[in-house]
Amino acid sequence: MKLNIGVIKGDGIGPEIVTEAMKVLDKVGEVYGHSCDYTQLLMGGASIDVNGVPLTDETVEAAQKCSAVLMGSIGGDAATSPWYQLEPSKRPEAGLLKIRKALNLFANLRPAVLYDELKGACPLKEEITEGGFDMMIMRELTGGLYFGERETKEIDGVMTACDSLTYNEDEIRRIAKRGFDIAMKRRKKVTSVDKANVLDSSRLWRKVVAEVAKDYPEVTLENMLVDNCAMQLVKDPKQFDVILTENMFGDILSDEASMVTGSIGMLASASLNETKFGLYEPSGGSAPDIAGKGIANPIATILSAAMMLRFSFDLDKEADAIERAVSKVLTDGYRTGDIMSEGKSKVGTAQMGDLICERICQ
Ligand code: NAD
Repeated sequence: MKLNIGVIKGDGIGPEIVTEAMKVLDKVGEVYGHSCDYTQLLMGGASIDVNGVPLTDETVEAAQKCSAVLMGSIGGDAATSPWYQLEPSKRPEAGLLKIRKALNLFANLRPAVLYDELKGACPLKEEITEGGFDMMIMRELTGGLYFGERETKEIDGVMTACDSLTYNEDEIRRIAKRGFDIAMKRRKKVTSVDKANVLDSSRLWRKVVAEVAKDYPEVTLENMLVDNCAMQLVKDPKQFDVILTENMFGDILSDEASMVTGSIGMLASASLNETKFGLYEPSGGSAPDIAGKGIANPIATILSAAMMLRFSFDLDKEADAIERAVSKVLTDGYRTGDIMSEGKSKVGTAQMGDLICERICQ
């Protein structure tokens, strides 16, 4: 199969970590008989340097012609980089918002996986984390409180602010379908998180999710209130497979879930639209403090590439091969600086990429 992949290397550690992910994709292609056709795209600071803006319309068009886009992080050090002398709409992060909007990326996926080998980095008690855990937080990304009408005004001499939380049934249905599709590729359980005891928007959410669930008889649906979910994530994270939730709840819960895994260098992510198209990127930023030193952890980007194979190309076996290779590297004792612990072998970015490639097999 020919894989038509857009690549945004980005800023800071972006080019270093994306290069390793491409190396791993090429290795997967070699082993499984696929060829990767990469289109390099400029975004963020790298685009400002060349085009004066963080994302051109031509780049958006080129991205739309690809089947998926793999991206490193964008942005620089706000205190020292000239990119941050520009007005907010011309700064690197504006490119990210523009591409998400242009490509209609409404579903954000963040896996939170605790590898048994890295459980020392997890702040939870050992009896809770024994055996590790593996969940996927699926967050609606383009609706809800962050996109509703808002205003601040004086009422009877008192300053009053209002933000509105709106969802229509179509917005809920499309993300719910995505959530159930993804559960079908995993352990077939969806926990839909809402605040249906208080909010109308949550009651509609719960109703529509239940309707969608009827088309997925193999998937177990459970409803959970958001406050309970926040507790359960630290009390018993192993119970979760796919957590499906609206924008603000997902924003908070995905950060909580990723913190309990330990290192930012291990956290992959994907943003999807209604087609198979997706934008795949590490959850962390461009880490300007370690850029160019060859010490960044490429695993989050490599795992994002595995998500791309699974969700945009339906290449599940190939995605499994990458995830297995990452686990094997950890079991064999190799660590980048951010996940280093006593008695392990410290390696740099490129060496970690090589070690993962060596472990890719059918
Ligand atoms: P950051 O995630 O870049 O860095 C936080 C800390 O984590 C740093 O100490 C960094 O060295 C470390 N870190 C991050 N990724 C790592 C990796 N792969 N390996 C080893 N260590 C890693 O967050 P920040 O410093 O707040 O932001 C830096 C820049 O990144 C800013 O310009 C910010 O706007 C941008 N940013 C971009 C994205 C994105 O592209 N989606 C997301 C978050 C932040």
